[in-house]
Amino acid sequence: MHSTLTSEQRHLLAFVGRSSGTALLDAFLEERALRSLLARAGGASGPTAPHGAPDWMTSYWTVGSKFVSPRPGAGPTRATVTATQIQRRGQALPSALRGEIADLLTATRAEQDRTWQWCRCPYAYEARNAHSGPCTRYHPSDEEHREHYRRANEMRDKTHALLRRVLDLDAGAQLDLFDQLI
Ligand SMILES: [Zn+2]
Repeated sequence: MHSTLTSEQRHLLAFVGRSSGTALLDAFLEERALRSLLARAGGASGPTAPHGAPDWMTSYWTVGSKFVSPRPGAGPTRATVTATQIQRRGQALPSALRGEIADLLTATRAEQDRTWQWCRCPYAYEARNAHSGPCTRYHPSDEEHREHYRRANEMRDKTHALLRRVLDLDAGAQLDLFDQLI
């Protein structure tokens, strides 16, 4: 896969991906998603740099239509990735990989749509008080909960695996150990 991104830029994008779930994957495919990711205007930081990244890369921040590291106030900017570079990277991806990303995004949205109205309150069968009936929302069984978490974990692992392939990073690159700063 031909890349015009430096190693530091790829690690910076992995850092962005760590704190943004599937949003960065979506941004490689759709300009609308890229704009929405940039509009969050946030960043993240950790006590140490991600595995494989330069030691100084302990934070990033969104500045206009760019991601920079370290974040402003934490020293001079040493790496920058622009929106245009993200779009070019996305356009250069093999169509099979773009297809895999699109399939994962579809599956992730379907699972969110399936479960977002699930209720965990204890009033599925008994009324909360004398003036109300039982809760009318859907209360999943323990088995349905387990299945949902199994699917969510599987999709998170797949998200990280696809990000590593998009960014040409090895399997040791950590993708979920950082605190988000918004
Ligand atoms: Zn309920």
